[in-house]
Amino acid sequence: RSTPILERQARRESNARTYARNLGLAISEAKGIYVKDVDGKTYIDCLACAGALPLGHNHPAVKQAIYDALNNDLPMQTLDLITPIKDEFVSELFESLPAEFSKNAKIQFCGPSGSDAVEAALKLVKTATGRRAVGAFRGGYHGMTHGSLALMGSLGPKMQVPGLMPDVHFFPYPYHHRYPIGTGDCEQDYQQCSQYLETTLGDPEGGILPLAGLVMEIVQGEGGVIPAPDAWVREVRRITRERNIPLIADEVQTGLGRTGTLYAFERSGIIPDVIVLSKAVGGSLPLAVILYKDELDVWQPGAHAGTFRGNQLAMATGLATIRYIRENQLASYVEQMGMHFQMQLWQIQAEFSHLIADVRGRGLMVGVELSAQVRHLGRQLQAECLDRGLIIELGGRNSSVVRFLPPLIIEAPQIDDVCQIFRDAVAAVAQ
Ligand code: PMP
Repeated sequence: RSTPILERQARRESNARTYARNLGLAISEAKGIYVKDVDGKTYIDCLACAGALPLGHNHPAVKQAIYDALNNDLPMQTLDLITPIKDEFVSELFESLPAEFSKNAKIQFCGPSGSDAVEAALKLVKTATGRRAVGAFRGGYHGMTHGSLALMGSLGPKMQVPGLMPDVHFFPYPYHHRYPIGTGDCEQDYQQCSQYLETTLGDPEGGILPLAGLVMEIVQGEGGVIPAPDAWVREVRRITRERNIPLIADEVQTGLGRTGTLYAFERSGIIPDVIVLSKAVGGSLPLAVILYKDELDVWQPGAHAGTFRGNQLAMATGLATIRYIRENQLASYVEQMGMHFQMQLWQIQAEFSHLIADVRGRGLMVGVELSAQVRHLGRQLQAECLDRGLIIELGGRNSSVVRFLPPLIIEAPQIDDVCQIFRDAVAAVAQ
């Protein structure tokens, strides 16, 4: 059954597809952490639309929100008009944020995608500061539109596109693992990164590199699941604050519980100036927002618009999802499940130490880095997992990191199943 549909799509769909291109899979049904293909085979979905399905597929709370919206004939799209659902959504979102931020913050709805929200954040800080250059980190990922792609901290996807936004300065992101054992340690690594940042940005009293903003992921996702050390995040905050450079936390992937706290920046105790959210915030449907400190809100009416930013269904599912995450204290559950996950992956690493170089992550954003000499085996490992009923994605330099982004509602026995399949797939590749 699956072959004709796959062949038809292979003829019609762009080569630019990513994992769908690598994996021959046509999905027709999904529930919770499971998806079923057109042949009736079931898979555990450890990608969950790159983190956009925090409660998994078709969660009852999300379905109910959609049924209610339709039964009550809620408007579907409302541009920027105020509606009761929007009001409730914004209130719930503000309550999920640290009070220190939300008490003086504004929200701007953006287009439906994370990239749209990153673009809006760039425009906002440029308008507010009157500066043209922005800072970003090596290995970072912020989207595929012109501005957000220009922020990408790896060259590959940018090389073919001439004329991306100039004036982006890149800074090193602590990545302990890039050092061969014995040549560097975590602390030395992050201290060097913050020294570089501080020296390049210059003296706050004069001669400062005038950045409109500095964009960071607290845990790099597509870049290979790299959690930043808390002390370094605090240093970045100190350095940017001293120079009045707005700090933009891109929480598109990490936001709303994924890393074991509602927001990844909370763990290090910092408060950014701008927060970018998408994926989980729409609770399965497309929605993207930026939240920012009042003083940055220099925009005049009409300075930033967008047709599809009044998507009421997405606000209804987003509201239901954020409420569910908060009421069920899912963030601390995610922290526990993340530990359970990593502990098993460490055992697999011990068994196959020649293949697996590193296991790391935060909450349910987990990565396994393959050893340098076998990193070309990533796609094969992905295919072996798929054969055994597990969907995973690769990321990082040379696609050498296996990324696990399961729905946040995954249970311990299901994590055990994931690890068992992954272990068998590693064993198959090892042969
Ligand atoms: N920022 C981060 C941190 C992301 O992980 C992503 C998507 N993976 C984006 C921005 C872009 O989001 P979108 O794909 O919805 O444009």
